[in-house]
Amino acid sequence: MSAGPRTLLTARWVLGHDAGRHQLLRDGELVVEGDRVIFAGRHFPGEVQSRFDAGEALIAPGFIDLDALADLDTTILALDNQPGWRKGRVWPQSYQDAGPVEMYSAAELAFQKKHAFAQLIRNGVTSALPISSLFYREWGETVEEFEAAADAAMSLGLRVWLGPAYRAGHLLVDDAGAISEFFDEARGLAELENAIRFCRDHAGRGGELVSAMLAPDRIETCTPALLRRTADAGRELGVPVRLHCCQSLLEYQTVLRLRGMTPPEWLDSLGFLRPGVLLPHGVWTNESPAIARPGRDLEIIAASGASIVHCPLVMARGGTMLRSFPKLRGMGINIGLGTDTAPPDFFLNMQLGLMLARIAEGSPTACRSEDMLDAATLGGATALGRGDLGRLQPGAKADLIVVELGRPQHGQVIDPIQTLMVAGQGRDVRDVMIDGAWVMRDRVIPGVDEIADAARAQAQFDRLVARYPQRTLGHPPVAEIFSSSYPRA
Ligand SMILES: [Zn+2]
Repeated sequence: MSAGPRTLLTARWVLGHDAGRHQLLRDGELVVEGDRVIFAGRHFPGEVQSRFDAGEALIAPGFIDLDALADLDTTILALDNQPGWRKGRVWPQSYQDAGPVEMYSAAELAFQKKHAFAQLIRNGVTSALPISSLFYREWGETVEEFEAAADAAMSLGLRVWLGPAYRAGHLLVDDAGAISEFFDEARGLAELENAIRFCRDHAGRGGELVSAMLAPDRIETCTPALLRRTADAGRELGVPVRLHCCQSLLEYQTVLRLRGMTPPEWLDSLGFLRPGVLLPHGVWTNESPAIARPGRDLEIIAASGASIVHCPLVMARGGTMLRSFPKLRGMGINIGLGTDTAPPDFFLNMQLGLMLARIAEGSPTACRSEDMLDAATLGGATALGRGDLGRLQPGAKADLIVVELGRPQHGQVIDPIQTLMVAGQGRDVRDVMIDGAWVMRDRVIPGVDEIADAARAQAQFDRLVARYPQRTLGHPPVAEIFSSSYPRA
C-alpha cells in the first residue's frame, strides 16, 4: 500500500546514510514518499510520480538546532559593551524594587517567534528547540505565547519542541556592583505546573511537527525542588529537558556558593541527569583555568548520558569555547549543536566549531569536517532520542535541505562537505523540506514577507533599546550603555 505520491530528488551530491553513518552519493537519488525517505542511492527501481533535480547542489539532512534562536537577539548589545552587569544584563536592585515589567507585548512576542522560525528555516534548520532570553520578561514565558508558537511552527511547517521557560529566581546587582540572588520558589513551581500542562496538551499536536519539552531556564535561577520536580516530570512525560549549565563563570561560582557543589555535581545529586537532558553550553568546568578545582564534571556528564549543546558562535563572541569538542566526544559525551545567537547560521557555527576544536587541541587533525556535520545532524537526533531524524535513509523522516554548490563564492569542490566547511553559509540553503513537505522553495517561504518582517523587528528592537536605562545599573542614558564603534559625527 502506498503512503502517498513518490518524489524522486536528484543532485550532484546526496548525503545518504547507511550502516550508521552518512555517505556521499555523487549524482545520487533520494526518494520521498509521504513524510518518509524510502530510498537513498542510485537507480531507484520503482515508479515515481514527480521528479525534482536540484542540479549543482548538495541534498543533505536538515540541521537539528537544540538551542534555536527564537527572539530578537540581544547579544548584539553585549558585543562591545561589557561587563554585562553594568550594561543591563543583570537586573539592578532598583528595577526589581520598582516591579519588573514585560518589555514586549504578547503580540510582539508572537511575531518574534514566527519571524525567528522563518529565519531558522532559511538557514536550513528543520528541527528546532527554541530559546529566548528571559532578561526582558517580567518572569517566565507563558503557556499562551507557546500556543501561539505552536501555531507559528505549524503554519511554517517547522518541526519544533516547545515548552515555556520557567525559573525560580534571578540575579540582582546592587549599586556597589555586588551580585546576589532573588528567589521566589512558589512562583517557579507554579510555572513548572503550567509547563507540564502544556506538555500534556501538546503530545503529538500538529501531526508530529510539534512536540513538547521542559525548559527550566538556567541552573543558577533554579532551586532543588524545582529541578527535582522537573526531572520527575521529564521522565514521566518522556520529554527532553533543557537546562543552561556550565555556561558562565558567574553561574558556576554562584552554584558553588549556593549549593556547595559544581553545577554537574549538583544536578547529579538531584538525580537530574539522564539521556534526553540537554545542557547548553558546557564551557566552564572544574578543569577551566579560572576554576581549577579537583572534580569530575565532565565524567559525571559522560556517565549520565546527557548531551552537551555546543554553540560555538555565541561562546566565542564572549571569549570562551568548549574545551574541547574532540575531548568530550572521546569521553563518550553526545554533542549536538545550537545557534543561540544571530545569525542562526549552522555553517558559520560548524566552521567556527571546527577551528575552535583545532585551536583548543593545538592540532589541525583534532577535528574533521564530518565531525561537525555529524553533531549538527546525528548528535541532535541522539540528544532527542530520535533515530528517524538527522539522516537520509529508508524509514527516516523526510527533513532535508538543498544547498547550492558551484557558485563563484564557494571556490572549488573536491568534497562538498569540506567546501561548505570552508565557504558555505546559511544563505546557500535554497530549498527546505520538512516532514515530506516543501517549506521553502528558491528561498521563498510561503506567506512570509521577509522585508516587512525585518522592518517590524527593527522597530520593536528600537523600542526595547530606548527603554534600556530603566533596567540598567545607575540608569544611565542609552548612549552611555551602548558604545559607538566610531565617533558619530
Ligand atoms: Zn544558550
